Amino acid sequence: MSYVDKDRPSTWKKYDKDFCVSCRANCCCMPVEVKSDDLIRLGVTDIDEVTNSIKKTAKRLKKEGIIMSYREGTEFFMLAQKANSECIFMDSKTRFCTVYDKRPETCRDFPARVGTRVGFCPAEKK
Ligand code: SF4
Ligand code: SF4
Repeated sequence: MSYVDKDRPSTWKKYDKDFCVSCRANCCCMPVEVKSDDLIRLGVTDIDEVTNSIKKTAKRLKKEGIIMSYREGTEFFMLAQKANSECIFMDSKTRFCTVYDKRPETCRDFPARVGTRVGFCPAEKK
């Protein structure tokens, strides 16, 4: 397989959902934008906390290492990543998502509907 660099969309492959099963999931090593609904579904906050103060919620989640940042005045957050860029919810050994059933919308939509190069992804065999 030719060289793929997750940071260079020009090297990405045409997306084929069947490939996800044997892929090393480079897509889970890219920044993921989430909304408060995603964080509520993940169980890291609840509607009361978010309604009370989204800014305070963001501050707590950042302190706890769940989010990397919050875009003030919006409901958009960036999920935290490990030092090696892996998503905090990725199992480093198996390279599977540990919260698959509750994963954020962005993860469900990439790369068919969202992404730097819609329809393409940094697919690479495990
Ligand atoms: S990089 Fe592409 S093929 Fe690999 S897991 Fe992600 S979406 Fe699936
Ligand atoms: S939440 Fe799951 S699917 Fe989404 S980036 Fe993290 S490990 Fe991947």
